[in-house]
Amino acid sequence: MSRRIVNRYAGLCRLYHQDVPASTGIAVKDDEPHAPWQVEHAEDCPPNPHNPDDTPTWDIDGGEGYGREPFISGASRREQWWTGRGGPGPDAVPGGLFLDEDRDEDRRVFGVVTMVTAHARYYSEEGMSFGVGDEEGYYYYYSARVRAATEQEAAPVLEAEARHKARSDLETRRKSLLRWMVGDVADARHPERGAPELESLHALPQVPLRPYDQPVL
Ligand SMILES: [Zn+2]
Repeated sequence: MSRRIVNRYAGLCRLYHQDVPASTGIAVKDDEPHAPWQVEHAEDCPPNPHNPDDTPTWDIDGGEGYGREPFISGASRREQWWTGRGGPGPDAVPGGLFLDEDRDEDRRVFGVVTMVTAHARYYSEEGMSFGVGDEEGYYYYYSARVRAATEQEAAPVLEAEARHKARSDLETRRKSLLRWMVGDVADARHPERGAPELESLHALPQVPLRPYDQPVL
C-alpha cells in the first residue's frame, strides 16, 4: 500500500507534471524501499494548455554540459530521445528519423516535438554527478515532458531546416564553382577586416562571380 497524505509542499504532479500548490493535492509514497514522496492532484489532473488533446507524452532530459538548451513550455523544436526509455519511433513525429542504435537495440530518434512542461534544476558540483559539469562547478539539468508536434506546429521548424539545407547546398556549390574557376589555393588565408593589403582590392577589375554570367566569347 502506498501512503497518501495532503501535500505540505508545492510540487509537480507526478502524473501530468503540472504545479500542485501546497496543501491542495496529495503527497504519495510508494511502498518500495527508498521510494520518494511524489505529488499528485487531489482530483483529476486539469488539462495542460500545451497538450489540449491529451496526446501521449514522454520525457526527455539532459545537462547543459551535453549541450542541452533550456526547454520552453509550449515551444516546438527538434529533439532526440531513446526508444528504450519510452519515447516513440520516428513515424510518430513530424520529421522523425532514426539517428543510431546501441547494443540493446535501443534506438535514438530525432524529431519535432512540442514541450508540454519544462523544468530546469540547478546543481552544484558537490555530491552530484549528472554528467559533464561546468568549470565553475555548477550547471543546469533540464527536463521536459513532450508530445509529437502537430503538423501545424512542426511546419516552421521543418521550413527553417529546409532553408538551412538550401543555404548549405548553395555554399557547397559556390565552393565547388570557385575551385573549378580558380583551383585550390593551398596557402589561402583571410586577412583581418580593414587590413592595408585589402586596399588594393578596390583597384581590381570587377569579375563576374558565376561562370554563366561571363559573356560568350
Ligand atoms: Zn495531476
